[in-house]
Amino acid sequence: MTPTRVLVLNSGSSSVKYQLIDMADRSRLAVGLAERIGEETSALHHEPLAGGGGKRERHGRLADHDAALEAVAEELAADGMGLDSPELAVIGHRVVHGGLKLTVPTLVDDAVLKEIERLIPVAPLHNPANVTGIRTAQRLRPDLPQVAVFDTAFHSAMPEHAARYAIDVETADAHRVRRYGFHGTSHAYVSRKAAELLGKDPSEVNLIVLHLGNGASASAVRGGRCEDTSMGLTPLEGLVMGTRSGDIDPAVVFHLGRVAGMSMDEVDELLNKRSGLLGLCGDNDMRQIRRRMAEGDAAARLAFDIYIHRLKKYIGAYYAVLGTVDAVVFTAGVGENSAPVREAAVAGLAELGLAVDGELNAAGGKEARLISPSYARVKVAVVPTDEELEIAEQSYALVASR
Ligand code: ADP
Repeated sequence: MTPTRVLVLNSGSSSVKYQLIDMADRSRLAVGLAERIGEETSALHHEPLAGGGGKRERHGRLADHDAALEAVAEELAADGMGLDSPELAVIGHRVVHGGLKLTVPTLVDDAVLKEIERLIPVAPLHNPANVTGIRTAQRLRPDLPQVAVFDTAFHSAMPEHAARYAIDVETADAHRVRRYGFHGTSHAYVSRKAAELLGKDPSEVNLIVLHLGNGASASAVRGGRCEDTSMGLTPLEGLVMGTRSGDIDPAVVFHLGRVAGMSMDEVDELLNKRSGLLGLCGDNDMRQIRRRMAEGDAAARLAFDIYIHRLKKYIGAYYAVLGTVDAVVFTAGVGENSAPVREAAVAGLAELGLAVDGELNAAGGKEARLISPSYARVKVAVVPTDEELEIAEQSYALVASR
């Protein structure tokens, strides 16, 4: 029997998300989340989707990622799908930063782990957890291939003129300061699905992909390759996000240091965790912001307007970068679910060939779909992202090709 199952692990700083996917039919066998790892209030939410066992919860301290993954393994084993199952082909890990060297899905060995560790200074929040997740999985199943799939990979095709900041080259190179881009697994998956929706090969279409979740990023994709993306050295640059500022004048940092006496760490925390929609109006959930707007709340309205203004600027910029655009594609929590955001983002862009059909936009649904009127020169699409499936596809393809 050829093993066809892939366990996808997404290890964050205090959480592990996982999915067990059978690549024979791309069905999900189990999904779950271990959260608040390291705290007294840790929880594990496990849902077997095959066999109909129903959701299970565990509460109580999971001391570290080791303990969390062991608990996950126990839950899977209880469903007869444990890590020792001969049907398991590979464990696929989401790794946030692959830097300049790790640009394709990669079989993990010591050298690869070292490189992921070497990149910790440019991904201090994510890469340490990713390394821990890989090490624990290796300990639990030493004989099983582990594949790392990098968030930065899709963007590694960016031309040098988009990837470089206009700063002193020697300083930049010495400290690996350049634009890497993130959410690449999503941008890659969504670009492919959007091309499918348009009935074309990815190599034939130019797309502006807007991944709008809690984190948000835009990318300009020409013929299946990334030409530019809005996140940079870290996931802070670009669009207005749930709690991140996105683009600001870098001098704001010096100003806050000199005038407000804030330390580097304080400014870092401000821009990453207390800015964006949350900083502007106290809420980072677009649903709540829309509810407040309906009640006439001025701060929520302004936060929404700032969010849309930035989004529109990126649509315009990437239109110019690409020259011709086949479709603007919305994805992730806000992009897939918020009709008002989609409508506002392309409002007034008829001269660029962009329009949204009110009814199609409002219709909702879980499938990839077009929401532009039939006459629109540039299509507008909603394409649900599926980073776990993409990680599973890439990991499985790598081990299947060995
Ligand atoms: P993450 O970046 O955490 O993976 P998601 O892609 O799941 O985020 O997006 C989460 C965000 O999606 C929420 O913070 C919320 O703002 C937004 N969202 C989810 N559902 C809706 C909805 N029905 N309408 C508007 N926004 C929504």
